[in-house]
Amino acid sequence: MPRASDNLNAFEIAMQQFGEAAKVLNLTESQIAMIKEPRRLTEVNLPVRMDDGSIHIFKGFRCQHSVARGPAKGGIRFHPDVSADEVRALAFWMTYKCAVVGVPFGGGKGGVVVDPSQLSPNELERLARRYMAEMADLFGPEQDIPAPDVNTNPQIMAWMMDTYSMHCKHHIPAVITGKPLELEGSEGRTKATSLGLVFCVREMANHMGLDIGTSKVAIQGFGNVGSYAGQILECMGAKIVSISDIGGGFYNPNGISMSMAMRYVAESKTRTLKDFDKTGAVKKYADPMKVLEEDVDILIPAALEAQITHENADRIQAKMIAEGANGPTIPEADKILYKKGVQIIPDILANAGGVTVSYLEWVQNRMGYYWTEERVNEDLEKIMVRAFNEVINTAREYKVQMRTAAFILGIKRVTKTAEIRGLYA
Ligand code: NAD
Repeated sequence: MPRASDNLNAFEIAMQQFGEAAKVLNLTESQIAMIKEPRRLTEVNLPVRMDDGSIHIFKGFRCQHSVARGPAKGGIRFHPDVSADEVRALAFWMTYKCAVVGVPFGGGKGGVVVDPSQLSPNELERLARRYMAEMADLFGPEQDIPAPDVNTNPQIMAWMMDTYSMHCKHHIPAVITGKPLELEGSEGRTKATSLGLVFCVREMANHMGLDIGTSKVAIQGFGNVGSYAGQILECMGAKIVSISDIGGGFYNPNGISMSMAMRYVAESKTRTLKDFDKTGAVKKYADPMKVLEEDVDILIPAALEAQITHENADRIQAKMIAEGANGPTIPEADKILYKKGVQIIPDILANAGGVTVSYLEWVQNRMGYYWTEERVNEDLEKIMVRAFNEVINTAREYKVQMRTAAFILGIKRVTKTAEIRGLYA
C-alpha cells in the first residue's frame, strides 16, 4: 500500500517542524547545532540463517539523537521502508517527546529493513537476537533503552532482553521496555500509548466543547496504538465508524465493534483486517486512504508517516486529529488544517503515553518492585494531562499551533539541560 506522500521523507518533515519552533525561539546557530542533528547513527548488516539453510543479510539501524536529558529512548521498527533518514527522524521526535512529557530520557530509534510477515517465528527470533547482539555495545539501562514499534512486540523485546543479558552474563531487565509481564514488563504498557492518546483527546474535547460520548471516530492503522485507542474510545461511548490497516479500509456508519475487529485480526491468517468485509460487519473502501477523509469528529492516524498531505488535507472533515503515529502529517498539510480550524494534537504529545509507561517500567525494573495497573495508569494520566496543559498554554503564549508549541516546550527543555551540562573538553 503506497504512502500518501513519497516526495517528503520523515527527516525532512521533522526538520521543517523543528525550523518553525527554532524561528519562534530565536535559537542561535550553536544552539541549533547542538540539538538538531543526531549524536550517533549506527548502521549494521545482520547475517541471519534462514530456515532453508541460506544466509540472508538484513540492514539494521540505531540512532541516538540526544542523550542530554538522559539515556536515549525509543522503539525498534521492523518494516521494509525503514531507512537511515526514517530512523533519524523518529529518534529526533523521541528527544522532544520525552522532553514534552518530562521523562528523563533523550531520544533514540532503531529499525531493520524487513517484512516480518515473510519470516517464520524462528527466523524472526534469530533476526531479533542478531540485532541486539550486533548493537549490544550501544544499549544499556544507562545508555540507550529500546522498546517496541511498528511490527515489533513484547516477545521480540523478551528475545532482545535475553540476548543482552546473556552477553553481560547477568539478568538486566531495564535494558529494554515493553517486555511481557512475565519478564518484568509493566502493567499497563500494552495499552499505554492509546490510553495516553485518549487522555489528550478527552482534554482537547473539553476545550472544544465536544462530547466524546456522541462523537464519531476514524482510525488509520489497526495495530497496537490504533486498536486500543478505538477500544477505549468505544468504552467512552464514541462510535468508531471507520478503520483501516495494511489489509484495507472499512466503514460502517452505525459503528464498528472494536472487540469484533480485534478478534478478527487476532484470528485471521494474515493478522490484518483483510477480508473483514466478508463478515458482513463492514463495507470496504475502494481506496483505503478514504478513512482519513471520513465525516467524523475525531481522526486518529495510527499507521505510518506522511499520510496527511497537501493532496488530501482539504478533504479531511474531522474537527480533531490525534496523532497516534509519528509524523503522519506533513508541514504543508499542517498549514491547511490550521487554516480550516482543525485541532491537531501533535504526535510528540499525543502518543507520548508509550514512552511514559516505558519510563515507569524502567523505574520498576531498577527498583525490582512492581506496581498495579491502577497505579501505573494514575501516573500516566497525571503526566499526560500536565503535558497537555503545558503545550496548550505554550500555544496561547506564543500564538502558535499545538505542534509548534510542543516543539517550543521540548526544545526549551533540551537546550536548558544542554547548557547546564556544558560542553566537555
Ligand atoms: P503496529 O505494527 O502494531 O501497527 C501498525 C498498523 O498500521 C498495522 O495495523 C498496519 O497494518 C497498519 N498500516 C501500515 N501501513 C498502513 C497503511 N499504509 N495504511 C493503513 N494502515 C497501515 O504498530 P504500532 O505500535 O501500533 O505503531 C503505529 C504508529 O504509532 C507508528 O507510527 C509508531 O511509531 C507509533 N507509535 C507507537 C507506539 C507504541 O507504543 N507502540 C508509541 C508511540 C508511537
